[in-house]
Amino acid sequence: MSSAQLVDGFNREIRYLRLSVTDRCNLRCTYCMAEDMTFLPKSRVLSLEEMVLVGAAFVELGVEKIRLTGGEPLVRNGVVELAQSLNQLDGLRELVMTTNGVLLDKFAAPLKDAGVSRLNISIDSLRADRFKSLTRFGQLEDVLRGIDAALSAEFKKIKLNAVVLNGTNSDEVVDLTKFAVEKGLDISFIEEMPLGEIDAHDRVDTAFENQSVRQQLEQSFSLKASDHQDRAGGPSKYLEIANSDTKVGFISPMSDNFCASCNRVRVTAEGKLLLCLGNEHSLDLREIVRDDPSHLKEAIIGSMQRKPERHYFDPNDITITRHMSATGG
Ligand code: SAM
Ligand code: SF4
Repeated sequence: MSSAQLVDGFNREIRYLRLSVTDRCNLRCTYCMAEDMTFLPKSRVLSLEEMVLVGAAFVELGVEKIRLTGGEPLVRNGVVELAQSLNQLDGLRELVMTTNGVLLDKFAAPLKDAGVSRLNISIDSLRADRFKSLTRFGQLEDVLRGIDAALSAEFKKIKLNAVVLNGTNSDEVVDLTKFAVEKGLDISFIEEMPLGEIDAHDRVDTAFENQSVRQQLEQSFSLKASDHQDRAGGPSKYLEIANSDTKVGFISPMSDNFCASCNRVRVTAEGKLLLCLGNEHSLDLREIVRDDPSHLKEAIIGSMQRKPERHYFDPNDITITRHMSATGG
């Protein structure tokens, strides 16, 4: 491991960058976006070349893992070429992606060839009608086809992600886990975060703690403690399903704060370095990369002291107006 040059004021080493390549998406998940969204004009979005310069600066500063995300990363033209360029950065150990899977049928093999080693695929329901209403117009069969294409492309690891909403899909956690076991995949359950104003539901009503997910799973599966932690550490806590290849992750930003071990920062499609998912502390990297990229590293190092200790989320009080689609998951 190279020596860490990115250390924040709470002695946390930053080794992981989540890079949002677009704020646009081919779905409109009700917990992520409002029905009517305004997207960034092209001039404000980093070019692919600018994204590579930003990625390179982070890797030179000791970042070992980059996750491409969005919006939906696969709607960004040139995303495969971007992956290829990032994958060549000396010092990067892992290039991974989070996607809704809709376009994976076409992109799984090229992404694998470009050096993306692992995929997180979001799927909140296995019922076509429910999937459609959760995503406002998505077709479940596209995602199922995408998952199969990803399996055929033989990624090192594929994990499903499901946001669990009380009264919407909270009765599907066992079915989703069975599906993951059948396909030989991992799965993580995510608590909904109050990021951005949405119009489809009140987040207080849909709040569902992972403790309840776990209780449901315990009725149907034998769960064992797992010592698995991503080497470049994400926020999931894992259990294993006995007699299977499947690990179940619990991402619990609402009920089990994980900020003490935070090792990551995010860069949005417009080049804003966000130091915390649940706070507004940021630095505009677009201005720097467009003005003089040789200043990127010193600016990023300087920003570390602005990283807040932790997030405080309250579904009654939406203080972060930025939607998850703009933040990058
Ligand atoms: N479009 C891709 C996808 O859906 O996988 C990548 C971006 S999406 C913003 C990344 C992850 O954030 C997805 O797993 C999504 O379900 C999750 N997400 C979106 N809004 C959220 C919210 N308000 N609370 C918790 N998770 C959320
Ligand atoms: Fe799009 Fe992902 Fe947000 Fe759903 S969660 S609207 S797929 S960015």
